[in-house]
Amino acid sequence: GVHGIALQSGPTSGPGPVALVLQDVTEARRVEAVRRDFVANVGHELKTPVGALALLAEAVEDAADDPETVRRFANRMSHEADRLARLVRELIDLSRLQGGEPLPDLVPLGVDRVIAEAVDRTGLAAHAKGISIASGGQHGLVVRGVESQLATAVTNLLANAVAYSPEGTRIAVGARARSGFAEIAVTDSGIGIPRQDRGRVFERFYRVDQSRASSTGGTGLGLAIVKHVASNHGGSVTVWSEEGLGSTFTLRIPLAARAAADPTPDDAGD
Ligand code: ADP
Repeated sequence: GVHGIALQSGPTSGPGPVALVLQDVTEARRVEAVRRDFVANVGHELKTPVGALALLAEAVEDAADDPETVRRFANRMSHEADRLARLVRELIDLSRLQGGEPLPDLVPLGVDRVIAEAVDRTGLAAHAKGISIASGGQHGLVVRGVESQLATAVTNLLANAVAYSPEGTRIAVGARARSGFAEIAVTDSGIGIPRQDRGRVFERFYRVDQSRASSTGGTGLGLAIVKHVASNHGGSVTVWSEEGLGSTFTLRIPLAARAAADPTPDDAGD
């Protein structure tokens, strides 16, 4: 898979200095190739909405005396502009997350709040598709983390669940404590992910089906962001999915010390 772009030299024991240098050169080449791919991908991804905007602007000019057509094209322009804005925002998020910027201090924070924030942010999109989001699971869990990053990660998972589910379905989000981690799971009964794509969906720009993904306005960056947030926190993200049945994404984040020592919250018992 594609990981961060952090430069790392070879192991410290075993191979002699010459082997080490060769290993570093190979690693440097690999890193350079990943970077070049990334820049090429970004260029391509930015070109699409920009090209569409240029064409639509021309079309609007040509249709100036037909208000209905102008309205339709303007609508599409605003759609493309949204897409462009989302792409730029996600690129900035991603470059911050993997760019070696030191992680802000991890502080104890409530998982309930993170989930509530994410549900809040996806509510509108869910409502538009008649999808209901049910939150449940264990309450009162406390993790060590950066609230904005965790809220973004859970929001991305929920936004995908909405985007890749049919109208009128249900999405469940909830947390539980397990082996020192808070497991935050997002389950949908949507289209699912084919087996051969499951291992790759966390790669930047990877989409299961380009045509399907572009109709949802996807950028292919959402899950790469989730993966970086998870690893920044010393956690992980995994997916279970069955085509046609749905998907569950599970984000694991270390519990704060107190909660890890005693995973049963004070108010457990209801
Ligand atoms: P996108 O912006 O395209 O949604 P992501 O990185 O968030 O990009 O997801 C990568 C791909 O993984 C998506 O294009 C989609 O094909 C697939 N995917 C992600 N979440 C789900 C889901 N809940 N159900 C089905 N497919 C999903």
